[in-house]
Amino acid sequence: MSSVMWFRRDLRLKDNPALLDAIASDPNVFALFVLDPVLWGQPGSVRTNYLIDSLSKLNTQLAGRLVIRSGSPSVIVPNFAREVSAGTVHIAADFGPYGQKRDNAVEGALTDFGVDLVRVGSAYAVAPGRVRKSDDTPYRVFTPFYKVWTTHGWRTPADSIPKNFVFQSAPTEQLPQPNLIPGLTLPPAGEEAAWKFWGEFKEKALAHYADDRNRPDLAGTSSLSHHLKYGEIHPRSVLAGLGDSDEVFRKEICWREFYADVLFNTPQSTHASLNEKFDVNMPWASGATAEEHVNAWKQGQTGFPFVDAGMRQLRAEGWIHNRVRMVVASFLIKDLHIPWQVGAPWFMQWLRDGDIASNTHGWQWTAGCGTDASPFYRVFNPITQGIKFDPHGDYIRRYVPELAHLSGAAAHEPWNTPDGYSHHYSRPVVDHKVEREVALANYAAAKENFANSGS
Ligand SMILES: Cc1cc2nc3c(=O)[nH]c(=O)nc-3n(C[C@H](O)[C@H](O)[C@H](O)COP(=O)(O)OP(=O)(O)OC[C@H]3O[C@@H](n4cnc5c(N)ncnc54)[C@H](O)[C@@H]3O)c2cc1C
Repeated sequence: MSSVMWFRRDLRLKDNPALLDAIASDPNVFALFVLDPVLWGQPGSVRTNYLIDSLSKLNTQLAGRLVIRSGSPSVIVPNFAREVSAGTVHIAADFGPYGQKRDNAVEGALTDFGVDLVRVGSAYAVAPGRVRKSDDTPYRVFTPFYKVWTTHGWRTPADSIPKNFVFQSAPTEQLPQPNLIPGLTLPPAGEEAAWKFWGEFKEKALAHYADDRNRPDLAGTSSLSHHLKYGEIHPRSVLAGLGDSDEVFRKEICWREFYADVLFNTPQSTHASLNEKFDVNMPWASGATAEEHVNAWKQGQTGFPFVDAGMRQLRAEGWIHNRVRMVVASFLIKDLHIPWQVGAPWFMQWLRDGDIASNTHGWQWTAGCGTDASPFYRVFNPITQGIKFDPHGDYIRRYVPELAHLSGAAAHEPWNTPDGYSHHYSRPVVDHKVEREVALANYAAAKENFANSGS
């Protein structure tokens, strides 16, 4: 007999309880990764390329014994288990809508072959569904969730796998070749890179995180999101490295857990607003001008430097700083009057850390229709936000070459400088002051219609 460790979003050997469980249940362990056509993006897409790098690093750690198979998991996993005479298949539980459906289908198919699917651990310090109110309902507000999450606590990191443990080998497909989009640069993937980034951040930036985390011009955040997304490091390992004074950072880790919990409890929220009046009554923009605006936003050609720098950072690095994510999302929704459901898939297409829970609810929070949301009337000013959080204009000059000739904060307001447009930077596509009023009027009307509809 043997056991199978089916890797998914847990591409690491350290602090991996499912892997330890596979080894404990039978020392003949096969390591499997399935290239699932549903999740495997377009060839050349950001996350596909990142994943190829991550899998190739994992394969090296496994001395070339990672078995790759492509196809539907509910066919591939049972067939593989039968091929290697496995009694059990071990996984970290997935709590996303697609992941749960897939795992249930695989479990059913394995049962037909007399093989057990064993779920141990998850991608979270506290698994979604565990933090509940005293009346056993889920939280929709972050702060009380955070308090209960902290009190609930989490396990200490799991032991390492035995030194020089040898995985079994089986015929494998080759990993696809990376095929990176021109102009896009991705950081190195894998467990070693994750621990390196985490170590450097802890040493150099964690102490200043509370002050610097909103500054996109500084390296003030951890850049761990893509490593956490693919489980190259577990949040439990990160939390174990924090001290009492690191509460601001601990809270950010908890936001990721909170959004996973919200999605687990409301799986329809991947496409529907938690506050349903948004989807029913808001008079969103449509037609040719709206399409042009969306296109300008996607290309970073809106004429608002902070927005354009963010949207170009996305396509250059597959990442945007959190403060800028909020501003560009707000701009699409409240200045261009486009529903969040248009912006969220664009982010998912381009983000190297694209995560269905954090992305969906980051968008809904900014739109003012989600959990604990910033109220709709709080409209980010894309100009003053830029001046406040990129006070010297360095972030703008890094991503918008048409404004690189402007010094200091002048890069945020080319319209105030005689040669602001000498390098053909776009003129603003809208007037922020006007569109802010339109957004507020639209929202008031939507609320009114909703009340009148008796819903
Ligand atoms: C519109 C929008 C979309 C977003 N989409 C995603 C996404 O697809 N994937 C994703 O991982 N994050 C998303 N975020 C959250 C956040 O922007 C990123 O997690 C963060 O910028 C990643 O950089 P970092 O690792 O340096 O963060 P740090 O500031 O170093 O934070 C450490 C970790 O905490 C978690 N975290 C921090 N802030 C948040 C947050 N607001 N929500 C959830 N988790 C958080 C992340 O795992 C992050 O790696 C989104 C935010 C917004 C406003």
